[in-house]
Amino acid sequence: MTTKKEIPTVLKILKKKSREFTSTALNDIAEERDPFKILISCILSLRTRDETTARVSKKLYELADNPKDMAKLSEKYIARTIKSVNYYKTKAKRIKAISQRLVLEFNGRVPDDINTLLTFKGVGRKTANIVIVYGFNKHGIPVDTHVHRVSNRLGWVNTKTPEKTEAALRTLLPKLYWMDINDLFVQFGQNICKPINPKCSECPVKKYCKYYKSLKTRPLKVK
Ligand code: SF4
Repeated sequence: MTTKKEIPTVLKILKKKSREFTSTALNDIAEERDPFKILISCILSLRTRDETTARVSKKLYELADNPKDMAKLSEKYIARTIKSVNYYKTKAKRIKAISQRLVLEFNGRVPDDINTLLTFKGVGRKTANIVIVYGFNKHGIPVDTHVHRVSNRLGWVNTKTPEKTEAALRTLLPKLYWMDINDLFVQFGQNICKPINPKCSECPVKKYCKYYKSLKTRPLKVK
């Protein structure tokens, strides 16, 4: 179990370890610091593999990389373009509607506060936080299944849903660390702290982990 004082150490270790991992699709898109592309790529990425998200995002932005141009595309055309992602029809509908609303109500700009972003259909807390952090360089904690799982295994939080994990992490962590958490935990969760069979034996932070300690103290099964 990590003590509050040890959190900076754990993050430092994970940061060093992350240099060994390949970047996620969102990392690459986030580098552009374009809130609109980050928002749309997030929607494309739901229940879709990283490589597919990256490829489809690129294809879509070749046709339209801003709300005004995207709003001009028909829903059918967007759907055809993004056909390789899961739920492409629903996503095409959302992308069209979001782009139209951005043009009509926000002068073609993505709003930079979470509460306004949450009023867009198809935008949940994870996506809103990602746009805030990677699009605007503002404080937020995007929590997906990896962040939720790793935070609970380490014992930083004890929560049942990503929304509750976000709230708990906001209370636990100084703002200084908020923007790093998603990046570090997603890569760590994809490569080491996997949902099934986490690679605990090769984990660089096992001595700070509640789950690992529970494994060691679990009684052996008697046959
Ligand atoms: Fe995850 Fe295992 Fe490392 Fe704990 S010790 S953080 S469960 S990989």
